Amino acid sequence: MTLMAEPVHGRFGAFGGRYVPESLVPACAGLAEAFAAAWADKTFRDELDSLLAVYAGRPTPLTPATNLSAQLGISLWLKREDLAHTGSHKINNVLGQALLARRMGRTRLIAETGAGQHGVATATAAALLGLSATIFMGTRDIERQRLNVFRMEMLGATVVPVTSGSRTLKDATNEAMRAWVSDVDNAHFLLGSVGGPHPYPWMVRSLQSVIGAEAREQVPATPDVVVACVGGGSNAAGTFAGFVETSARLIGVEAAGGAAMTSGSPGVVHGARSMVLQDADGQVAEASSIAAGLDYPGVGPEHAYLGEIGRAEYRTVTDDEVVAALRRLARSEGIICALESAHAVAWVLRAAGTADLPAGSSVLLTLSGRGDKDMVALSEGVAA
Ligand SMILES: *Cc1c(COP(=O)(O)O)cnc(C)c1O
Repeated sequence: MTLMAEPVHGRFGAFGGRYVPESLVPACAGLAEAFAAAWADKTFRDELDSLLAVYAGRPTPLTPATNLSAQLGISLWLKREDLAHTGSHKINNVLGQALLARRMGRTRLIAETGAGQHGVATATAAALLGLSATIFMGTRDIERQRLNVFRMEMLGATVVPVTSGSRTLKDATNEAMRAWVSDVDNAHFLLGSVGGPHPYPWMVRSLQSVIGAEAREQVPATPDVVVACVGGGSNAAGTFAGFVETSARLIGVEAAGGAAMTSGSPGVVHGARSMVLQDADGQVAEASSIAAGLDYPGVGPEHAYLGEIGRAEYRTVTDDEVVAALRRLARSEGIICALESAHAVAWVLRAAGTADLPAGSSVLLTLSGRGDKDMVALSEGVAA
């Protein structure tokens, strides 16, 4: 099964598409054309690859989790996106889109952020490439992630607090899309995950596929299971892209309070048809997770498709399991991962030795980010 080509009309089976106001249709169409041309252009790809190497620190290592593997009776490998510049996989997507924005003659980046990781990555790329950055962030997330707000401002970005709705990522995304509509000729909307209207799900997965491509080269043999956490689904989509044509089982792990794949139903959110948490009237529901980066009621349409055809499976874990998993990985391997990434670890801890993950299995787990941003909240006992 080949997923790398541009999906026709941006469709992943019955999912995806481009559900946007009339005023954004030309911008989305122009962006799809520009990305297709750039992605096929060796000069663009060489410049991106070079930045990923000399600036973002790629390839990131693949680390055997030796102690945890022995304890659990499996072989666990960690793909270390926590070691990428700015502390998560977000930089892979952001560098690609920022280069594209510059190539398109745009001078301003607009982005949404939840945990603040995508905002920090966007502010970073803007500083590097001489672009301005406006970052929309819910006030609830601003309270939870003050340090990342300070980092964005340190990098020269403008952070716009969003007070509507649940004051989290969903609302920040609405506001960022509104800001794009009103500055569509000058600004690039730098979406942080694999949701949104075409071309975003395809473009962001293509830019994140470096995770899976590297991991496939680094892992000694095709793993039995490939696992990653799923918020919007970009680190998982990038990881899965490297293994979708292999025999590996693909598992995405959602927050129990933000489980669009597990508890949602088909609907439209932020410009794409996908799986969405919604009420009986089709109103998008509010998600709730200890991890700001997974606090999102939707998921990228490619996941909805992979789930529907049975190629990928989705599981949920609770906030308590996540905190315990973060602590256990820290104590057994000396790696403090992000609360988001700890979702994938929590599933492995629960499933190891059961029919879902039998003893002796080999597992490749994408550790999407580092946990520094979460230490203040954990030290204050948010769920410890
Ligand atoms: C943003 C973020 C996520 C969730 O985003 P995806 O698009 O699902 O990858 C996961 N982990 C970390 C560390 C993040 O910063």
